[in-house]
Amino acid sequence: MNVKTQETPDEEPESVEIGFDGLGLCPELLEALNDLGYEEPTPIQRATMPLLIGGADLLGQAATGTGKTAAFALPALQAIGANAAAVPSVLVVVPTRELAVQVSEAMFKYGRKLGIKVCPVFGGQPIYRQLKSLKRGVHVVVATPGRAVDLINRGALELGAIRTVVLDEADEMLDMGFADDIEAILKATPDDRQTVLFSATMPARITSIAKRYQRSPERIEIGRRGPETSNALVRQSVYFVQRRHKPTALGRVLDIEGPTAAIVFCRTRIEVDELTATMSGRGYRAEALHGGLDQQQRDRVMGRLKSGSAELLIATDVAARGLDVDSLTHVVNYDVPSAAESYVHRIGRVGRAGRSGVAITLAEPKEKRLLANIERLTKQKIPVERVPSVADLRSKQIDVTVAAIREELVAEDLPDFDGVLEALGTEDQRVVTLAAIKLLHEARGASQDEVEIPEISPQNDRGKGKRNKRDRNKNGREKKKGGSTRRPGDSSPGFLYISVGRNAGVRPADLVGAIANEAGLPGRDVGPIRISDNFSVVGIPEDAVADACKAMSSTSVRGKKAKVRRYVE
Ligand code: AMP
Repeated sequence: MNVKTQETPDEEPESVEIGFDGLGLCPELLEALNDLGYEEPTPIQRATMPLLIGGADLLGQAATGTGKTAAFALPALQAIGANAAAVPSVLVVVPTRELAVQVSEAMFKYGRKLGIKVCPVFGGQPIYRQLKSLKRGVHVVVATPGRAVDLINRGALELGAIRTVVLDEADEMLDMGFADDIEAILKATPDDRQTVLFSATMPARITSIAKRYQRSPERIEIGRRGPETSNALVRQSVYFVQRRHKPTALGRVLDIEGPTAAIVFCRTRIEVDELTATMSGRGYRAEALHGGLDQQQRDRVMGRLKSGSAELLIATDVAARGLDVDSLTHVVNYDVPSAAESYVHRIGRVGRAGRSGVAITLAEPKEKRLLANIERLTKQKIPVERVPSVADLRSKQIDVTVAAIREELVAEDLPDFDGVLEALGTEDQRVVTLAAIKLLHEARGASQDEVEIPEISPQNDRGKGKRNKRDRNKNGREKKKGGSTRRPGDSSPGFLYISVGRNAGVRPADLVGAIANEAGLPGRDVGPIRISDNFSVVGIPEDAVADACKAMSSTSVRGKKAKVRRYVE
């Protein structure tokens, strides 16, 4: 077996080819990646794609979040090519239905320009619908092991033309008791297939499958390398937060931290643009920096950051390469970076020349393993912090207002405002003072954020997979899902469109109140909230959307009649 360990150099890789060129991908796939805003391959993609395009078998060690889906999907899609007959030629086997849907969506997006048809099949959904989809003709099937075996036994999943089999999260599948199903699937596919196996860990049970079912696989391990240290002057912390709460969490952490200037790293150009729009809408002076900008635009952005007229730079790794700004005090990872080394490079933007700095990471529970890679590389635990509550934020904002007023108490031009006080002469002085404080407080944007972010524990890692495990019967087969027993924060997010917005004076509390009173949802289930001039969009659990629309059919918000309907992004 050829073992290769992908290493990233200590210095920023200026000399390494940036972008996806040179990996051997066809124009349709390159175009799709460009449309998705991917600017450069992740280390696992750079290491594996040329090998897979060359037809090699692969044993890859990589966790979720490293970009491994695209690493196996793009070469597999390329092998199918454009205008191919719709018979299954790629079979991806994954442990959970959530992952089956996620991988299918990713492969559909990547393969759109090639006209590739993808079908997810998994337990818990009526089989007839999946039989129908398969019958219509597909190129790629993404299956959970139990359902794949069912479909093979029924003769509904035709395997004669399969060229590539991918086992994704193989260790998880073995942990869930799917070893027999996996072997049955591999035995049922043609011997001359390409076999790709990804696993976060490499126990003997995995290498034994590799030995029996792969042909001289290339072995790729990502990020296993010598010690690398991070700067002791940089205070690091991680906040666990669900994706839908990230913009609110980011704003709140920034408000509490009060950076002079901060850089927020996102994975794609599109994420950068979206987050820049969101944060600008929330009153931050945010600028986007990504590979889609020409030199002039880039210079303008950097100028605004250096002069202090922008406080937040939202950037991709590629665009921020070589960036050196003295005023930066905070680095934020909007996601856990897919390569541990890029975490070290990113946080190296602060804490330079003896100055102190702060590195903040917003992580979803499923990214815990990536975080562990970083901790292993830096030989340092990153403390987990609690996302500040609305009350924390309020108290911080009061502190800031008090400090601002204290500073003004010694200002020499105070007498210039005597006229205002005289004009209000008959009013109670205390009330006048409070009104002035309120104006100042609100002018600083202090009253905008009123959404409670549910606390989540990093222990929920791979929670979905674990839940699935309980959902299976003794034989390891997936059970059909019965009625719903929703727990708070358990459901996927849905959105309500409400036809009143900022112009009607609507504030987040009005929306939370209306939804709580009329739809009976607790405040913790409501959010994120986006208030535009003429309408608002509010996140609530998907399975509560239909009832909420019904319950709010004749609602008023801030005294205005409002139409409420499902919002589809
Ligand atoms: P995965 O490890 O496959 O679950 O991917 C993690 C996330 O990274 C997904 O949201 C992908 O869409 C995203 N992603 C994968 N490759 C890239 C890339 N080269 N550039 C930016 N984002 C990527």
